[in-house]
Amino acid sequence: MDISYILNHLGEERANYFHAVSPPIIQSSNFTFEDIAAMRESLKDELNQPFYTRGGNPTVTILRQKIAALEKAEDALIFGSGSAAVAAAMLSQLRAGDHVVSVAKPYSWSNKLMTRFLERYGVSHTYIDGTDEQNYEKAIQPNTRVLFLESPNSLTFELQNIPAVVAIAKRHNCITIIDNSYASPYYQNPIEMGVDIVVHSATKYLNGHSDAVVGVLCSSKAIVRQIFENEYMTLGGIISPNDAWLLLRGLRTLPIRMEQCSKSAAQVVEYLASHPKVQRVLYPFSPDFPQYELARQQMRGCSSLFSFYLAASDLAAVERFCNALRYFLLACSWGGHESLIFPSCVLYTSENYQSTGQGWNMVRMYVGLESPDVLIADLAQALEQM
Ligand SMILES: *Cc1c(COP(=O)(O)O)cnc(C)c1O
Repeated sequence: MDISYILNHLGEERANYFHAVSPPIIQSSNFTFEDIAAMRESLKDELNQPFYTRGGNPTVTILRQKIAALEKAEDALIFGSGSAAVAAAMLSQLRAGDHVVSVAKPYSWSNKLMTRFLERYGVSHTYIDGTDEQNYEKAIQPNTRVLFLESPNSLTFELQNIPAVVAIAKRHNCITIIDNSYASPYYQNPIEMGVDIVVHSATKYLNGHSDAVVGVLCSSKAIVRQIFENEYMTLGGIISPNDAWLLLRGLRTLPIRMEQCSKSAAQVVEYLASHPKVQRVLYPFSPDFPQYELARQQMRGCSSLFSFYLAASDLAAVERFCNALRYFLLACSWGGHESLIFPSCVLYTSENYQSTGQGWNMVRMYVGLESPDVLIADLAQALEQM
């Protein structure tokens, strides 16, 4: 299915709503029936037939179909946040006594899911350096059920060789779950590489406008059905019809946003990499990135999130640089229209985050949709003031 069809037409049955081009926001908690037979019929398949909005809603269903198609998955579920999607995926595959082998340094709240939450329910985990897939195999125990991947991660961008980890999982009868937020389905489709469950923070590139928090989960029909009937309906971490509509709107421009962000990021990276006040840039498509070959092999393109180390004399210099930027906003998250920085020095005093161990002079940067010339000029003046 070509992406233009997915983004512009798939799932949109316009004859059902006055032939409106843009789908309606069905802002209704429940749905009514002509008679008992119709009600009974709908209750048989709450996921696909409107009954109660925690289970299914027509606006959300359009989004589900598009997300599944984008990830080349049989089906998808939409959640109220990326973290809800990660948690549902993990909980669905684990029970007390099980063990997870996870790539080290996953997204902060995925980390807390394993260290604080799953531990309480008797699920243990081992963090491994995923740059060598053999580490997954070495950490597997008789009770290992899930291999968790995040390739690349969203701070230092280490990759895992996805097909190699899938092969290990299959040999040991384990399920693979990957957080694919960084690359987005536009640049990487792990299901095609054999991964069982793909999750995203759709808050990032999929929505792309910094105005909604959303998560998605993509998998086979059978796994989606199982998660729907358990974690999805029980924990109830759903998206509102209004936010689903925002996602549908954001998705229309996914390809042009991804292309533009990638192109601009490559230019900004090139500028920073050759600047004397920058020690080093971490960006998977930089030829000096340790896993450059794998990145090229596994991803059709590179997203626009990367990190760099400032050649700064002290913390005050880092702060001067960050405070001097005008176009790069100081904020968490990424994937929207606006360029952002998240300097790791802010983590050092926050009780919400563990120290990253990445050094006070590291800055994570997200390049959005502004003109790259404007962004580079902004960086030039801020580096000057550092
Ligand atoms: C933001 C993010 C999440 C969490 O998603 P939310 O939508 O914020 O709940 C998970 N994984 C990665 C890689 C992220 O960047």
